[in-house]
Amino acid sequence: MKNSQAHKDARVHTYCLHGSRAQEVELELQLTGGLMQRIIMSGLAGGALRESRERIRGCLERAGLQLPKRSLLANFAPADIPKQGNGFDLPLALGILALTEQVNRAALSDRAIVGEVALDGRLRPIRGALTLALAARQAGRTRFMLPWENGPEASLVDGLKIEAVRTIQQALDVLSGTPAPEPPATSQSDATPLDLADVRGQASGRRALEIAALGGHNLLMSGPPGTGKTMLAQRLPGLLNPLTEENALEVSALHGLASGGVSCIVRHPPFRAPHHTISRGGLTGGGNPITPGELSLAHRGVLFLDEMPEFPRMLLETLRQPLEEGKIRLARAGRAVEFPARVQLVGAMNPCPCGYRGHPRRGCRCSPSSLAQYRRRISGPLLDRFDLAVDVPPPEADSLLTSKKGESTAAARLRLSAAAPAQPNAPAVPKNRRVRRRLEQAIATFALSPRGMHRTIAVARTIARLRGAEETDISDLDEALSFRNGFSGASE
Ligand SMILES: [Zn+2]
Repeated sequence: MKNSQAHKDARVHTYCLHGSRAQEVELELQLTGGLMQRIIMSGLAGGALRESRERIRGCLERAGLQLPKRSLLANFAPADIPKQGNGFDLPLALGILALTEQVNRAALSDRAIVGEVALDGRLRPIRGALTLALAARQAGRTRFMLPWENGPEASLVDGLKIEAVRTIQQALDVLSGTPAPEPPATSQSDATPLDLADVRGQASGRRALEIAALGGHNLLMSGPPGTGKTMLAQRLPGLLNPLTEENALEVSALHGLASGGVSCIVRHPPFRAPHHTISRGGLTGGGNPITPGELSLAHRGVLFLDEMPEFPRMLLETLRQPLEEGKIRLARAGRAVEFPARVQLVGAMNPCPCGYRGHPRRGCRCSPSSLAQYRRRISGPLLDRFDLAVDVPPPEADSLLTSKKGESTAAARLRLSAAAPAQPNAPAVPKNRRVRRRLEQAIATFALSPRGMHRTIAVARTIARLRGAEETDISDLDEALSFRNGFSGASE
């Protein structure tokens, strides 16, 4: 009795996406008594999956494969998670074939199987192959069968045998012992970060960039158009350490969710520079199926907002919470979906609407009211998130004429690697008495908020580390204060 019961069951391990994570789903199939040849599905919340049933029936019939003579029940567990996408087609089809002995059940036991099936039996690629493959490996699966186009992305995971197949027939061949074809090799590497040697002059901008790189501080640059703010920002990832193996996979998987997939591991901290016309969904994530936005694509890297006052203020405000928490929560049919969003924020702005305020050779024509209005477009609390504010002035005429290159990223990195280690347990306020007195003065003079004070101390510590010191001294604090008070004229 027990044997005949087992005979009627089949189990398939499959996976589906939930935000930036993948969830293991167990598909359990069972023949029922009815003679109607119906496929009854349970445990599904996604509407698209109902169509899956008809697609699979059509596909199996066209391929000359046999459907069970009786009705069958297909149960997806756990039942309480929404299952989006069509990745359940292939596991469902193979599970049905296992019920009629056209697939060896034992072959299904150690595999993870995902894929969408077309009516003609070909497999269509699915989204998030790397995320799914990472989850399969973590769940202890040794083999992962999925559509051919997803093979290269899934192969980025070590320790998991990838079986990329083109058709349902090929899937059956592999399950009966034919070796799966090797997916194309992934020899590409991600783009090398840009080099600081391309930037001429801009000593204070470079200095701020280096401090930002060491301490992970947010940086805001102000200057007329064309002075190199964007060039500087683009070179921040090159100053940061390459991603650890684990983080590289995490970031690559996120990028794979957003685009048509990734073909190489993202090893350098990403740099994302959304335009100010970007939609809210484009920035924070959203859509159907839900995909990460620029904020999450910049995870463990740099989010650069050029012409920051041009971004709608509401859009900028949505960044405050994620900047604090390192992740963004999106509501999705009454459920929260999370995407990681630990970013270093770099902003750039013109000093005024016309762009030439403080320019040595050109005059500003902005009225005081338009200037005030322009600055109000970035809220105080968001402005407070920038630990470093620096002027990026137009280059001196003679520095434009020289062909001398700037200092390279490699040279700057050498300095960063010689910095004193961070001290996570340092006291909240430095012990040095002169430093404390200067801080008290600054709080009174510049109306520093408590948050502003703590950020200033953090920047001063980073500056001390850069000169190899463990103790913050008064010159470190003064430099940190000069960055907090920011741009010439910002406090007017
Ligand atoms: Zn102006």
